[in-house]
Amino acid sequence: MKKMNKKVRVRFAPSPTGYLHIGSLRTALYNFLYAKKYGGDFYIRVEDTDQKRIVPEVIEKLLESLEWAGIFPNEGVFTDEKGNIAEKGKYGPYIQSKRLEIYQKYAHELVEKGEAYYCFCAPERLDSLRAIQEKAKLAPAYDKLCLKTFSLDEAKEKIKNGESCVIRFDVPETGETEFEDIIRGKVKFANKNLDDFVILKSDGYPTYHLAHVVDDHLMETSMVFRGEEWLPSAPKHILMFKAFGWEVPSYAHLNVILNKNTNRKLSKRDGDVSVEDFKRKGYLPEAVVNFIALLGWNPKTEQEMFSLNELVEQFEENKLNKSGSIFDIEKLDWMNGNYIRKKDIGELTGLCRGYIEDYVESLEKKPDENLLNSEYYQKIVAVEKERLKKLADITDNIDFYFFSPDYPKDLLRWKQMDDLEVGRSLERAAKILGEIEDAEWNLENIKEKLLLSADPKNRGKLLWPLRVAFTGKEKSPSPFEVAWVLGKTKSLERINKAIEK
Ligand code: GLU
Repeated sequence: MKKMNKKVRVRFAPSPTGYLHIGSLRTALYNFLYAKKYGGDFYIRVEDTDQKRIVPEVIEKLLESLEWAGIFPNEGVFTDEKGNIAEKGKYGPYIQSKRLEIYQKYAHELVEKGEAYYCFCAPERLDSLRAIQEKAKLAPAYDKLCLKTFSLDEAKEKIKNGESCVIRFDVPETGETEFEDIIRGKVKFANKNLDDFVILKSDGYPTYHLAHVVDDHLMETSMVFRGEEWLPSAPKHILMFKAFGWEVPSYAHLNVILNKNTNRKLSKRDGDVSVEDFKRKGYLPEAVVNFIALLGWNPKTEQEMFSLNELVEQFEENKLNKSGSIFDIEKLDWMNGNYIRKKDIGELTGLCRGYIEDYVESLEKKPDENLLNSEYYQKIVAVEKERLKKLADITDNIDFYFFSPDYPKDLLRWKQMDDLEVGRSLERAAKILGEIEDAEWNLENIKEKLLLSADPKNRGKLLWPLRVAFTGKEKSPSPFEVAWVLGKTKSLERINKAIEK
């Protein structure tokens, strides 16, 4: 489906307006996968000509989020070893605000060709025009007044006299503009529904429409994967490419990502949607990438878990979906849990460490200093990792690893056991554990010894009171695991405390 005669060149072209939306990460990912698959170029271009909306340091954050996901451009804007924004490649600059003269030159070229015109209408006139159109239930559109009123020479004279103007594209009033979308097939738009949109503003800044068409041409973009929200603008872009006499790149307008509850486009209102949010909560990049890849692309096999390399190998643009995809956070949690459990314990502890430290930091009463080290954290992580959906979950219900728990006496009771039986059970457990040498204090041993002495038909009798003595909780990891983490001394202390109760 791709044009074989041209080198594959794709781009991710974010406008640095805030944060990187998870949907934009997906757009970047598909561009990246496509470039990798066909051995092409993937470049990053920053579309920052809408100056009012720029938030400082946003470019840094955007790139950081992409890097976190493992998406690196081989050209364009990137962060160098010192963490500074840099550019590489022969088509630069890749930051649009540095290319204003280029856009101005091309906008004027379109005017000279008779494809665009100067417009001097004041905002007040445009407002009243819009009001009239609204009243008549017509779509707001510029009425070509300046095109009809002034010849090119007259317009130039006005500019010479210092009059402010914009440049508008002269959209044909009849006919249709159509193109072949990789995902949607033939798409057609009636020209009469397209407004004579501004391409160059009075301050000399281009609009997005002009800037991206010029850049996609000059930077030899062969294929554009972008969000569905750009589909209505596509005919404007096609018309411009044609007016310049340039080849139109292929387009793939990606499906929309929907909120599971509202069935509407996933947006900031729905809560956390930025890549940074997912990172902060402890989603692993592998999981996020895997999950979003499947939001708009269907491999048409049973496989659900894909590494980035597998995605590169298997990605096919003709398996991209047209209809919306539901963002199912439970599915992401499930996937993330899988990736968490695949991690080597040392690495996983490193990933969880920050969360545990923040947790300890937040405690009013501080735990014993001896417990605040990687070795101890690693044991906690080893036991708790089974239940983790996100790294941040590591701090749920882990107080008993740091403090001797408080609990109502009755919680120690398994089924109908009376105080005496509970006491005896705990004493027996203390004896078994007490006989294990320090050097033999490992999970297998602890488990084996306790199970050997438990009544196979009623293990709860021995294990329930013991577990509660350790954790003070109705639900927690097994007493074997907790005993292993706590160590012999602490385990025996807690059993004795329970016996006293
Ligand atoms: N700058 C546009 C955006 O922020 C890019 C649209 C396109 O890829 O053409 O979404």
